Amino acid sequence: MFVHHCSACAKDQLIFPSMLSGVRTTEVGTEVTFTCWCGAEQAAGTGHVLADA
Ligand SMILES: [Zn+2]
Repeated sequence: MFVHHCSACAKDQLIFPSMLSGVRTTEVGTEVTFTCWCGAEQAAGTGHVLADA
């Protein structure tokens, strides 16, 4: 699991593997899509981590 800052509810949420709805590879890395606890579709991945650093 990992911590994701949701863009919809603006909270740091713990995301569990069971919440993941998809995985895809982009030119910047692997990206996973999931549904936040608030119900919003979110995406996170290595590309996003690098962008946030
Ligand atoms: Zn949320």
